[in-house]
Amino acid sequence: ATPTALMVGTGRSAKLGILIKNGEVLETVNQITTVVFDKTGTITEGTPKVTNVIGDEKEVLAIAAALESASEHPLAKAILKQQPNSDYVVENFKSIEGRGVEGEINGEKVFVGSPKLAKSNSFEAEMHQLQNEAKTVVTVGRNQQVIGLVAIQDMAKATAKTAINSLHRRGLKTAMLTGDNELVAQAIADQVGIDTVIANVLPKDKADQVKHLQTNEVVAFVGDGINDAPALATADVGIAMGSGTDVAIESGDIVLVKNDLLDVVKALELSKKTFNRIK
Ligand code: ADP
Ligand code: MG
Repeated sequence: ATPTALMVGTGRSAKLGILIKNGEVLETVNQITTVVFDKTGTITEGTPKVTNVIGDEKEVLAIAAALESASEHPLAKAILKQQPNSDYVVENFKSIEGRGVEGEINGEKVFVGSPKLAKSNSFEAEMHQLQNEAKTVVTVGRNQQVIGLVAIQDMAKATAKTAINSLHRRGLKTAMLTGDNELVAQAIADQVGIDTVIANVLPKDKADQVKHLQTNEVVAFVGDGINDAPALATADVGIAMGSGTDVAIESGDIVLVKNDLLDVVKALELSKKTFNRIK
């Protein structure tokens, strides 16, 4: 590869909002067999909204809002948009990565987060119903008991289905990786046509899932850097959404400035063209 040809190729793509940061991946792009997407903020808009509250709505939201006011998670933002303040004050706040948040209110242990945080859950039927509607359900609990649910919906991006479809037409496989529950993940994957769902993956395990896929596949990973920067770095080709975190943009080989999933397809096409020209 001559440096001049590389510059031309990457300069052209930059005008389209596709930054090829690492020219060495151009060759690898031709060999990609699977494109793996992070769910939240990549396949979905990343601006989730509360749609349902099950249980004593006032109490459930008051506890959830008090706890989430100390969290930066997109789900926390959704809950605080619905219920901006709370009469409760939380002590001993703790955030559990990929699971939720917990603390104490008036000396009682409280939590909000993944159904996995609760030992038992008397709202199982309601929970499954909501999850099948592609809604993420967080449980709100006090003294080890689930007292209610908050269902939160994060819509799939408008162009996701077309982008996935055109990857399939190019003979590529697709997968989605998420910390969310498998019913929700599958419901969203079905909406956009993704082949494979890998759910319930803790943030620290996302890179390992990519490594595992790499035993049989050449993997491109598309993410926004929230929880998934190590996966971006581990993949054969890391594609970062431009709206993502600084660490995503640092970890990615290719950056999609416009955050459009159709640019995943364009980036692959451009890389191929550029590589063929400089070969
Ligand atoms: P994703 O892989 O979709 O980006 P995360 O790994 O960040 O998801 O979170 C996985 C799950 O952990 C969420 O679906 C939710 O159940 C729970 N969770 C994590 N953080 C929070 C929080 N601050 N409030 C409520 N639930 C949370
Ligand atoms: Mg994420």
